[in-house]
Formats: sequence, structure tokens, C-alpha cells
Amino acid sequence: MVHPADTQSAATGAGDPVTPGVPLPTLTPETRPFFTEGLRGQLVITTCEDCGYLSHPPVPVCSRCLSYSVSPQPVSGSAQVEAFSINRYPWHPAFPPPYVVAIVSLREQQSVHLTTNIVGCDPEEVRVGMDVAVRFDVHQTAEGDRLALPVFTPVRDS
Ligand SMILES: [Zn+2]
Repeated sequence: MVHPADTQSAATGAGDPVTPGVPLPTLTPETRPFFTEGLRGQLVITTCEDCGYLSHPPVPVCSRCLSYSVSPQPVSGSAQVEAFSINRYPWHPAFPPPYVVAIVSLREQQSVHLTTNIVGCDPEEVRVGMDVAVRFDVHQTAEGDRLALPVFTPVRDS
């Protein structure tokens, strides 16, 4: 059983690998930047060099103009909650309930949707339309690769 306190979120992307047992994505040449640039504190999205369109999940061709001139480029990490669900059942020992699974849209392009978790708040506080900002949960694969999974936390009014 993994306790939530063992999961470390790092706003800068720095941090020690944590949480054995968390299912991790398989890295491909297309997805590796998305799952590793967070180690440097950056959320990157596949961006078309010809028309500027952002495509996600990472693909080798622009989803709008079909250009092959695409590359992972940093975005702000600002997003908005489009939909969410509070999970209250212990489906997996690495994910103690309750936790929030959400779809967020990026500020730069609302059609870019990321499936993620909302962290750093009471699940009951999450609302559709809430402004959130990226942070990264650092993990290590069995092969020793370090990954930084993007999750989002509410932007508090100061
Ligand atoms: Zn394009």
C-alpha cells in the first residue's frame, strides 16, 4: 500500500523518483518529451512549425495541416478543468481514494485536452471551469528511466 504522502509533487520538476507500483506510460520517440521534460519543469506539447497548431497526444504529424514539421515546445502549463470525476474506490493500491481524474484544456489552445489528476486540494473543491496550473509527479520506471507526469493544481487567488 502506498500512502499519498509518499508521492512527491515538484513545481519545478526537480525531485526524487517516488511511488513504486504506479503504472507508468511506455515511452515512444513521440511521447518521451511529454513525459520527461517535466523533469526540467516544462510542459511540452507537440507544436506545428508551419501553422502553430498544438496536437495532443503527441503525434508525428500536425493534426490540422498535416505538416511533418512538428516538435515538442513549452507551453505555460495554465489550464482549465473541463470535466472531472471523484474516484472513491480503491481500484489500484498506488492510488488511494479519494482522488480526482480530470480533463483539462490548455490556455494556449482550448482544443488540447489532457487527462490528468487534480491535486493539492480537497476533491470536493474541484469545479468545471476552475483555473489550474501544471506541476509534475516524478517517477522511476523499472528500467531506471525518470518520468515526470503532469498533474494540475488549483490556482489560488492571492
Ligand atoms: Zn500545422
